[in-house]
Amino acid sequence: VRHLERVASIDAKTGLLNSAAWHARAERAVTRSGRGPGSAAVLVLDLDHFKDVNDTYGHLAGDEVLAAVADALQAEVRDGDLVGRFGGEEFVILLAARAGRTEADALTAAQSVADRIRRRVASLAVGLDTPDGPLTVAGLSVSVGAAVRPDGPADLRTLVHAADTALYAAKRAGRN
Ligand code: GH3
Ligand code: MG
Ligand code: MG
Repeated sequence: VRHLERVASIDAKTGLLNSAAWHARAERAVTRSGRGPGSAAVLVLDLDHFKDVNDTYGHLAGDEVLAAVADALQAEVRDGDLVGRFGGEEFVILLAARAGRTEADALTAAQSVADRIRRRVASLAVGLDTPDGPLTVAGLSVSVGAAVRPDGPADLRTLVHAADTALYAAKRAGRN
């Protein structure tokens, strides 16, 4: 049963939580944090011009790049934060609430995590073995939207929606 639960909650391509599992766990975490201060935050991320990666190197290479990006995201968050694959080349992160953290602290923390992720993705060099020989994919970038749970009530849906809106603002403002 435990094996089946794991298979049902993990995205096979990236090893991250799939969308349904991320939502279920994030919902619980946000509800829990509603009882005290320590503002949680949500990041929504979308790789920039990812279609170009597929068009240039093929979809199999694209899949390996997605897995490398997933590892990079996981490496930049702390235990207790939740990283999920939202869909395609879109990811979502819940930065868990921490005792005593104000809304302003949470905003600063979300900005710094987002910026670390942005720089880490930009510095990725993904090595691949292809039928034509070894290949390195680099020059990636990601756009990130963030939303912080206010001190008053908020639900996960509202947070994700606000972060998604911010993501599109980041895309319009020039990506990366
Ligand atoms: P933008 O900067 O506007 O986000 O440009 P984009 O090319 O990334 O555009 P968009 O986010 O709309 O397109 C996502 C592309 O990601 C489309 C598809 O080719 C690719 N993609 C989505 N899911 C997968 C996947 O599982 N594997 C691979 N290889 N590619 C995927
Ligand atoms: Mg997309
Ligand atoms: Mg994209």
